[in-house]
Amino acid sequence: MRQVIILGSGPAGLTAGVYAARAHLRPLIVDGHEPGGQLSLTTTVENFPGFPGGLLGPDLIQSMRAQAERFGAEYRQGEATDADLGRRPFRITIGGTAEECQTLIVATGASAKMLGLPSERQLVGHGVSTCATCDGFFFQDQVVMVVGGGDSALEEALFLTKFAKRVTVVHRRDTLRASKIMQERAFANPKIDFLWDSIPAEILDVGQQKVTSVRIRNVKTDTITERTVDGIFVAIGHTPNTQMFQGKLEMDGVGYIVTHEGTRTNVPGVFAAGDVQDHVYRQAITAAGSGCMAAIDAERFLEHAEY
Ligand code: NAP
Repeated sequence: MRQVIILGSGPAGLTAGVYAARAHLRPLIVDGHEPGGQLSLTTTVENFPGFPGGLLGPDLIQSMRAQAERFGAEYRQGEATDADLGRRPFRITIGGTAEECQTLIVATGASAKMLGLPSERQLVGHGVSTCATCDGFFFQDQVVMVVGGGDSALEEALFLTKFAKRVTVVHRRDTLRASKIMQERAFANPKIDFLWDSIPAEILDVGQQKVTSVRIRNVKTDTITERTVDGIFVAIGHTPNTQMFQGKLEMDGVGYIVTHEGTRTNVPGVFAAGDVQDHVYRQAITAAGSGCMAAIDAERFLEHAEY
């Protein structure tokens, strides 16, 4: 029987691990399908406080892992596939084996939706990004593309105009889904232009390990054109990794876990931290902060819980 199991090993899960381990709760941290979360898919991180020179996302994750381990956290590779939250101890199925725990911290994150192009996956962190706040700074005076027609795409495009000299929004239809106010701002910005009825067909150049251009397919005419760009931001939405909690934890309309009073979910003893419960800020530092909160909430729950 574990005092606490933490699902997810991004900044939220690992920070929860550091705090829970230092509270002598010997947490079990389950890596999940994307160990390290979205930070492991990025290159340089320059906005995590404490690192004035920046550091690599995977290095930041590695340091957090080592820190939690130093205080007694244990790791388990593999994915949790089922959770019985009907009564405590909770039963969590991890890689086919059932584990029992008194408290559960869900830090399974949200995955950025991708276009599904092979070149896109290979160039993530090398000009392909899903986070303008994280990577926009690297495109000073360069030409970038943003894919999507929702609020995220326009927010990313507007943010990128602080750095890039030109931002082209590529949208698969000829009307935007984004709110009117965001549309007005984007249309009024002289650095932003739009490519309508279009989707990226291929991102070049995998051979050079950097983005040099994008082949665009017009979905109405099927014609292909090529645009020279230095970077491409995919902003077609995120999917919270909450499928296994459907019907078990309270969620909003798109599947993010709803938290109350800090990190509490609707099930006493189950806490949620990081992007799995936050579709607004989505930063490594905010995820880490809520991971800390979840561990403190779990510790206090255990102190007061009746076994
Ligand atoms: P979204 O509203 O679902 O928009 C996703 C966009 O990506 C849509 O325009 C969609 O096209 C396009 N898309 C989806 N799959 C695609 C594919 N495979 N290939 C090409 N294009 C694709 O997602 P979001 O923009 O991330 O916003 C999510 C929620 O957060 C929304 O409720 C939004 O209002 C909110 N949000 C608010 C703000 C803000 O207020 N500042 C900022 C960000 C997000 P279609 O339009 O054709 O479906």
